Amino acid sequence: MVKLRFFSGIEGEVGGNQILLEDGETKILLDFGINFGRWRSFFSFPLSRPRGVEDYFRVGLIPKELRDRETGLVGGVDACIITHPHSDHYAGICALPSGENAIPVYLGQATHRILKAKLESRRSAEAKAMAQLDFKTYRTGDRLQIGDVEIRPWHVDHSTPGAYVLIIHTTGGTIVYTGDFRLHGSFGKKLTQKGDQFWQKLEGEEIQALICEATNFGEPVNPISEEEVERLMHKCVEACRGLVIVNTSTSDVDRLRTICRVAKETQRQVIATKYFWPVLEALQEDEKLNAPKPKVDVIPYEEAVDEIKKRQSDYILLTSFYREKEILEVEPVPGSYFILSSSEPFEEEGEIEFSRLKNWLNLFGVPIYHVHTSGHAFPMHLMQVIEALSPKLLYPVHTEAPQALARMAESLPGVCAVLPEKGVEYRL
Ligand SMILES: [Zn+2]
Repeated sequence: MVKLRFFSGIEGEVGGNQILLEDGETKILLDFGINFGRWRSFFSFPLSRPRGVEDYFRVGLIPKELRDRETGLVGGVDACIITHPHSDHYAGICALPSGENAIPVYLGQATHRILKAKLESRRSAEAKAMAQLDFKTYRTGDRLQIGDVEIRPWHVDHSTPGAYVLIIHTTGGTIVYTGDFRLHGSFGKKLTQKGDQFWQKLEGEEIQALICEATNFGEPVNPISEEEVERLMHKCVEACRGLVIVNTSTSDVDRLRTICRVAKETQRQVIATKYFWPVLEALQEDEKLNAPKPKVDVIPYEEAVDEIKKRQSDYILLTSFYREKEILEVEPVPGSYFILSSSEPFEEEGEIEFSRLKNWLNLFGVPIYHVHTSGHAFPMHLMQVIEALSPKLLYPVHTEAPQALARMAESLPGVCAVLPEKGVEYRL
């Protein structure tokens, strides 16, 4: 008997996915994230952070059903599989045991590099505990045998390198879990052209259930590609007579490459604040990713701060988390631009309010441009994927409007959509 239970990342929550798959005696967690909307309703950063794992169980960020009474940590689970290195998909692993009773955490190689770099750059006890977990890396094509279940991770495009979908062979049929993905990024387009997308590989295979992200339902979506982002960014940078400040996610390597290309075309040098270094340096080990090179394509802010002040029109300053510190130090001259080019608001640091930064930018006379495309599939692409896979059951997750995807998908023949409710058991 195969059962699915969804604990978080459903009922209108975007992110914080926690899905428990049971096949006979085998129990596997598919992602173990924290929903930061819920996190914010109990905690704040940096002053009122959770005091420990116990607080996560207490407020329901991690389900009490999974808590082992003796250890106070998650127990009774054979493995945890993480799809990509965003905290709304992995932050719950702080409640997994390490050492003798460790629950193995499977994750892609790039995800492991990024996560390790992020954890090493943080000083919290939580980060230190996470670094001790039993990590096992996977890559596309691997077959992870966990009890009666075989899992084949397959690469997808998202706003971070190292994102995978999980193709799960159970005794009750094949389940596909998308994690977070998109088709319109540079990597996504390449995969589709090569016929190397998961739904292309699965052609002809019977899919019992599809657990599908639907972030872009329920909100207006701007359906532009990464190439169009580059074109728009070029237009802004070319018109700018002062400093260009770009706010973007530290792990969105696709976007960082775009910014570096625009810098070259417009004869500017890219400078980045310290938050970009751990991930950029960690990704140099993987040549295929072609991540911008530290100290060549991107120079540390600290080394260039005096020069930027003097010759602002020669630089693009990368910043993240709506930080104003460097902007106040540099004091952008009139004619400078701020480009909001960020993807993921799910990091704790995103707490810092954008409105405060806007006030400072207004004071300096710096206009704000929004040049961005989503890290998630557009509704039209989701329908294309669902149609290709033709699953018997569809579970929408990671969306404000699960019913919208359900209604749209049920127009396809043979697809039955189920809106998951927290903790309820769904038998396949
Ligand atoms: Zn997510």
